[in-house]
Amino acid sequence: MTKNEPCDVLIIGAGATGSLSATVLARAGLDVVCLEQGDWVEAGDHPHYSADWTWQRRTNWNSDVNKRHHPDDYPVVTDSSQVLMWNGVGGSTNVYGAIWPRYRPSDFRKFDEHGLQPNWPISYEDVAPFYEAADRMIGVSGLAGDAAMPPRDKPPTRPLPFTKAAGRLAQAFDQLDWHWWPAEAGVISENYDGRPACNGCGVCNGCPRGSMSKYSLSIWPKALAAGAKLRTHARVLRIEKGLDGRATGALFIDRNTGITEFQPARLVIVAANGVGTPRLLLASDNLANQSDQVGRNLLHHTLVSSEMWVEEPIESHMGYVASLISREFAETDTSRGFVNGFNFNCLTSTSSAGEVAAGWITDTKAPWGRDHHRWFERHFGRCIGIHAIGDDLPNPDNRVSIDPSVCDKDGVPVATLHYQPGENDRRMMNYMLDRLVDIAKAAGAFEYALQDYRDKDGVYRTPAWHMIGTCRMGEDPETSVVNKWNQSWDVPNLFIVDGSVLATGGVVNPTPTISALALRAATYIRDNFRELSGTTRSAAA
Ligand SMILES: Cc1cc2nc3c(=O)[nH]c(=O)nc-3n(C[C@H](O)[C@H](O)[C@H](O)COP(=O)(O)OP(=O)(O)OC[C@H]3O[C@@H](n4cnc5c(N)ncnc54)[C@H](O)[C@@H]3O)c2cc1C
Ligand code: SF4
Repeated sequence: MTKNEPCDVLIIGAGATGSLSATVLARAGLDVVCLEQGDWVEAGDHPHYSADWTWQRRTNWNSDVNKRHHPDDYPVVTDSSQVLMWNGVGGSTNVYGAIWPRYRPSDFRKFDEHGLQPNWPISYEDVAPFYEAADRMIGVSGLAGDAAMPPRDKPPTRPLPFTKAAGRLAQAFDQLDWHWWPAEAGVISENYDGRPACNGCGVCNGCPRGSMSKYSLSIWPKALAAGAKLRTHARVLRIEKGLDGRATGALFIDRNTGITEFQPARLVIVAANGVGTPRLLLASDNLANQSDQVGRNLLHHTLVSSEMWVEEPIESHMGYVASLISREFAETDTSRGFVNGFNFNCLTSTSSAGEVAAGWITDTKAPWGRDHHRWFERHFGRCIGIHAIGDDLPNPDNRVSIDPSVCDKDGVPVATLHYQPGENDRRMMNYMLDRLVDIAKAAGAFEYALQDYRDKDGVYRTPAWHMIGTCRMGEDPETSVVNKWNQSWDVPNLFIVDGSVLATGGVVNPTPTISALALRAATYIRDNFRELSGTTRSAAA
């Protein structure tokens, strides 16, 4: 085993939150090393301009780790969800949709509201300045002024063009008298930070142009320029702890050489996402888990979806993937028969003709034979997709766990994932499906289809692209894994900054909130490094 020179801060995982932490801490002059099991994905590596893009999207570029079978991945055994993530520099932002909404103030105090979820130890106001800072660093487009949200700064680039699909939906929402707002996006509408503006090509889900602000393009160059060291193909096997109860560093394998190395560090940050982080902590002799909460309370949003087709050609194969967001049902109204709320993410459509014919969100397929071309002409460019995303209640049995007897080829126990919606979530799903029908009717769709992600046996097999809750933040060491600064209650020089710390899921895509919290935690570490690391190095002063 090789022992490397000690560093100030070791970051495990070079995804969204690892990159932000590295930037803040390297800019402060700290010696930062980040270990990432995967590789770089350049904008030009995305296969969207290839003739077989649709095929590649379903095979080697599938967002589901268990369908992609890439050597950078690790296996996740699941009896339920489709496990969507990307393992490489920039993490899952290599394939994300970059829909960029914020939580609402009420998302931070759900216990006060109905007692079925915890309160966060912090408020919206604590996070708000970091939302703004993250937007500027990452590169975001949008329109300030949504009356359903607290006031905010103007996004760094103007809103993306309002597409025909958006216009059609806006009319439908107006007819229903429901809230809507143009979707904010982690996509730049103007040239920004050395990257080109979105051209509306419509092939999102990874952007071949670099206009979508995946973190390998928007953040890692800043971290590297500030002196952070990033090692790719470096898979962490376990985090080590000393007799004094403090983290000492991590054991990892260099996947190019096969040599096991130890990286000593004064402070360790885990940024391996809502699955990778609990897996690693559990595999490190149950590290930071005196509460028995590591891996529990997995949230990935209650999800149902629809597709609708309208007569008028609305060029729905063009433009950035998201069009509108509606927060009409974001708050609890118990007269609906459940607590918590949901949001509509309205999409344009898939740009891929093959996917239109072979089935997209609802798996609606073009018939073969005589009617094929007629069906295709009637449906292509006329489709709108909607995801209804709800705030699921935590359940300790929805969890990431490990089975020490089943290991990957590097000897790390594989992650096992179980998730099923509870009674409240199921009531919400049924209500959301009815509201999706309302939208289809108001939009004058000649056809619509619904997707509730339940298989023929009633097992909910949702696409799990939001992995949160598995190391949640809280006020009480007995019921949470980290405190309000993302610091482990048990191991004082161990911080968890990825999506696993979110105590509630909110009704929206989580990455703006995950990013803001990572910036907040990194700023705290920067400002208190001397005390947190137990060192008197001058860099921390
Ligand atoms: C298909 C898809 C669409 C999405 N769309 C949206 C969207 O529109 N809006 C939104 O807000 N969010 C979206 N998301 C979610 C978003 O990508 C995540 O919220 C975000 O990337 C989480 O950041 P993270 O730092 O927690 O983890 P990640 O970005 O997943 O990074 C974790 C990193 O840790 C590394 N790692 C794990 N274990 C180890 C180990 N043992 N050793 C070394 N490295 C390790 C991984 O390789 C990975 O690179 C989407 C996700 C997917 C998959
Ligand atoms: S529409 Fe914009 S964000 Fe989407 S792939 Fe094209 S250039 Fe990238």
